Amino acid sequence: MEVFIDKCTDYKDTYEVIEEAFSTLGGIDDFIKDGETILVKPNLLKGSPPKEAVATHPDFIISVIKNLEKKDVDIIVGDSPAGRMSPKKLRKHYEKSDWLRIEDETSARLNYDVRQIRKNFPAGRVKKSFDMLKLAQDVDGIINLPKLKTHSLTVFTGAVKNQYGLVHGLSKAAYHGQFLKLNEFGRMLLDVNGSIKSRISIMDGILGMEGNGPSGGKPVSLNSILASKDPIACDYAACKMVGIPMQKVPTLIESDMDFDSIEYPKRRPSSFERDIEYPTGGSQPVRVPNFLANLFSNLYLDRPKLQKEKCVKCWECEEICPKDAISRKDHGPKISWWTCIRCYCCAEGCPEEALVIEQ
Ligand code: SF4
Ligand code: SF4
Repeated sequence: MEVFIDKCTDYKDTYEVIEEAFSTLGGIDDFIKDGETILVKPNLLKGSPPKEAVATHPDFIISVIKNLEKKDVDIIVGDSPAGRMSPKKLRKHYEKSDWLRIEDETSARLNYDVRQIRKNFPAGRVKKSFDMLKLAQDVDGIINLPKLKTHSLTVFTGAVKNQYGLVHGLSKAAYHGQFLKLNEFGRMLLDVNGSIKSRISIMDGILGMEGNGPSGGKPVSLNSILASKDPIACDYAACKMVGIPMQKVPTLIESDMDFDSIEYPKRRPSSFERDIEYPTGGSQPVRVPNFLANLFSNLYLDRPKLQKEKCVKCWECEEICPKDAISRKDHGPKISWWTCIRCYCCAEGCPEEALVIEQ
């Protein structure tokens, strides 16, 4: 398996680097065919200005689409952000992320179809069916465009976790509730990936995120673009670049990939090495016995804490929470610490950044 990595310091220069990534990994004809409908799946965790590095940068998405336009294809750009989905909410997320100009500058259209389907995956190790965005099933192929970020629960979020975004709105949080132990959660993420089979992952590592990602961390210039046909290989290379040991990332631990066999046809991860700041509290050790998992979470893992002055009482967090741990109070949401499983879905989905991850 190959991972293409190259330097890119400015979003204005992404077209050429992405063009070289396609040609190095087999040529554009290897990835798409005339007449196909292709879903471009960036990270749209929630609407957020590009400078905050939460969502895949619009210029990066546009450069990928312009490369795809070399073929006669119908391109749809879509994701399933945290929380309940509606066309109106999607429009707000697109607007806030400066994605509306994608339709002005390319032939692609933004997705407003929020229908879901049950996708069966009998080969799944821990989960054999998923509630997915229907669009993911309707298209001929998927191009995965993750953002290189840290993650308060899984330490790192990249190509594998980005495909989890195709699980429908609130079901994402519900699956957190089903897979409390991180190793099981990692296996479930790998099952989702096995059921999706995107054709290529191209990672926006130009402006990444460190600290308490995936939405509350700090933007950090990493000046790189990575690409691979295999999302796991792409994530492994990204972790090597930023100094995150694979033993901390559940999807890498639970994968059966031989990481030593990965080839780097352009640059090696070591030519970019730069340590980034981890999430503050770290995550649950991946291998703890079942009976200890909840207790450990309650005692040791960081908690989402409310910054009252930022809260607008929209109650998105209450709706997202998979354990009904949030109740409404006059001052804003109150979290029951003994019910909370520290999945951080509430903090990821809060449109006002009013929930921060703290010890
Ligand atoms: S914490 Fe965030 S999501 Fe929850 S009610 Fe306040 S603003 Fe809304
Ligand atoms: S309150 Fe706890 S369980 Fe509920 S969404 Fe937030 S972190 Fe997850």
